[in-house]
Amino acid sequence: MRLSLISFILILIIISPVGAISERVDRISEEIIENYQIEGDLKYYYKDLNGGAETRKYPFNRYGVILDSEFLQDTNDEELKGLLAHELAHIEDYSSMTFPEFLLFGAIYILFEDFQRDVERETDKTAIGKGFGKELLAFREYSLKSEDSAYVERVKKNYLSPEEIIEYSEGGI
Ligand SMILES: [Zn+2]
Repeated sequence: MRLSLISFILILIIISPVGAISERVDRISEEIIENYQIEGDLKYYYKDLNGGAETRKYPFNRYGVILDSEFLQDTNDEELKGLLAHELAHIEDYSSMTFPEFLLFGAIYILFEDFQRDVERETDKTAIGKGFGKELLAFREYSLKSEDSAYVERVKKNYLSPEEIIEYSEGGI
């Protein structure tokens, strides 16, 4: 009885959107993380973020990537890899900051839209530089197809366009 209840809960977790996406995120993250220089522990969290993703640094070199499982459940592996290539580029960046430096960075990011745009576009370029231009392009196209028009506007304003991704991917897509 007790075992079957545990099995039932496990099955619920596995078939839930978070369970399905977290298995894929863990697998793809493991595949690509060796391309990034990250000192410390990284964990993925899931929350409704209206399509976005957030990255954090915590004290003692711990990092969090917060993902929107519902928005991501229709991605294929290539699109999901494109997103993770971008998020891990943020974490690599935070890895070179002390915690107080990260707090200052976070405050400036929230306060200044131009800075936010520069950071996101540079982060896209880092992901391309790591060899994930094709995957980033796939994810950008997935994002731009979202039915949430406010989210699409944010993507257009702050990130590289599909044309720019192709342009910056020197080795070709
Ligand atoms: Zn970003």
